[in-house]
Amino acid sequence: MKIICIGRNYVEHAKELNNAVPGEPVFFLKPDTAVLPRDRAFYLPDFSKDIHHEIELVLKISKEGKKIAEEFAYRYFDQITVGIDFTARDIQQKQKEKGLPWEPAKAFDHSAPCGDFIDFAKLKDKENIQFNLDINGKTVQTGNSNLMLFNFSKVISYVSQFITLRKGDLIYTGTPSGVGAVKENDLLECYLEGEKLLEVKVL
Ligand code: MG
Repeated sequence: MKIICIGRNYVEHAKELNNAVPGEPVFFLKPDTAVLPRDRAFYLPDFSKDIHHEIELVLKISKEGKKIAEEFAYRYFDQITVGIDFTARDIQQKQKEKGLPWEPAKAFDHSAPCGDFIDFAKLKDKENIQFNLDINGKTVQTGNSNLMLFNFSKVISYVSQFITLRKGDLIYTGTPSGVGAVKENDLLECYLEGEKLLEVKVL
């Protein structure tokens, strides 16, 4: 199983980090060791002083596919949830300045908590999916899938031109604006359409 993450998929988030708005999807990978086991706390790693939260809609791939056409992309996922793309922003900034890969900042252990999946078919409005992250009871990030630069179909089609997607792979589809640092004892709660699907304690 692999985790594919889309970067800079919301204009306001690209702007808040002073990044250009991309003409094509930007993606990177996290290994399966990035999964945070359910009901486990997230421990702040000692190699960073600036771990940021990025709440994202997460799709679960339901069958193998390669070079998937956009119009058929919806056949390749059947479940959705919210997850967090934890990012060592201080390390990412250094890597970006040097033009080096992001993996040390993005792919570390437990950097990809993932919520309970729900059936995509059950969503009332599939083009208009609301999600938010609360920290210690206060909403810090809100997003809606209709604000994505590249929608689910485009993302799946694009990534599958390069990488075969397999059943069980996860796609983190990018974060809206409002990213920021987490600190010890924070409680992160992730909601999709008002339903809490993920809770992460930071230690
Ligand atoms: Mg992200």
